[in-house]
Amino acid sequence: MSTNFDSTYLTDKQWYIPYSELQSACKWEIIGYSSEERPLLYTTLGHGPRSICIWAGMHGNETTGVFIILSLIELFQKKQIDLEGFTLHLMPVANPDAYVRYSRRNGLGIDLNRDFNSFQTIESAKLVGWIKMHEPELCFNLHDQRTIFHVGGHSAYTSLLVPSAEITRTITPMRRALMNRLGNALSSMQVDLTGVGRYTDEYYPTAIGDYLMANGIANILIESGVKEGDLERRAAREFGLRTILATISANDSPSKVYDQLPLNEQGQFEWVFTNVLYAHMRVDVAIKRFHFINGHAADYVYLVDEIGDLKAKPRMKEVDGTAIALAQPLELEKPVNGHFGDYLFEEGKILSL
Ligand SMILES: [Zn+2]
Repeated sequence: MSTNFDSTYLTDKQWYIPYSELQSACKWEIIGYSSEERPLLYTTLGHGPRSICIWAGMHGNETTGVFIILSLIELFQKKQIDLEGFTLHLMPVANPDAYVRYSRRNGLGIDLNRDFNSFQTIESAKLVGWIKMHEPELCFNLHDQRTIFHVGGHSAYTSLLVPSAEITRTITPMRRALMNRLGNALSSMQVDLTGVGRYTDEYYPTAIGDYLMANGIANILIESGVKEGDLERRAAREFGLRTILATISANDSPSKVYDQLPLNEQGQFEWVFTNVLYAHMRVDVAIKRFHFINGHAADYVYLVDEIGDLKAKPRMKEVDGTAIALAQPLELEKPVNGHFGDYLFEEGKILSL
């Protein structure tokens, strides 16, 4: 496998593409329409007998998988990847009404990933119909995870899961084979797996991965996250892409590499100022980014995340705040204001360094 992919979608600093722009990025087919009548797009790469389905954008505020799919298309067109024997079916945005809002839920306020038991939404029904139509030997379900996740104190920039097929989380022969295949893929990539974790395999009967496993359709969940200093999740884009390519060509001979990935844990902060003077107390102050779409432009502000003794929790970035004295009260989930040492914040924006 190539280690030097030349793809703007992997390296570009943008982390959101307006849906209209995405629609013109490729010659898409349309499988149907969302509840607000946006086209549900898909395309196909290769002509091999082995069918693979990959989708992203089920949650509209999780865009890394969209970039992974666009990079697959770009690299295939540039002949930088070889799909001999395979056909890849790609759906970049399964939930376009959520995508245009940059929100988790669809236009009617439903979380699609809690709808794969009752299929009330048109988007979940269309996605599953599209998957079953292609009789895939393997699927990839692309999501983004929040920055609260870490693996052993390292920010979890990718978490992987071979989902459970039922409540007892039994390792069925199909699940074992898929774990082996993913483990062999990770070995073949010969990369440092620090920051790569295993997602919990707790059974969620209304989530698509669990639903598909229960129905005998093999699938892997890839949750893309943030590495310190990599706001755009570009490291996760490349790792996700490489994982997909390595897994489709891997065999399922016994491997424990997937099993040995540490489980991801919650509780990581993004940015902590330690020992800050605040209302006659010395406290740690954690702040986090909140992403949003302003018109068609991607933007973010810093919000107050937590105040108190945060010593026990891992963080991506730490600043000694001993010289910082905060005059204004802090409110959780509200934009950061005031001088934090060298940083001046106004309504969540950094004005100066
Ligand atoms: Zn998600």
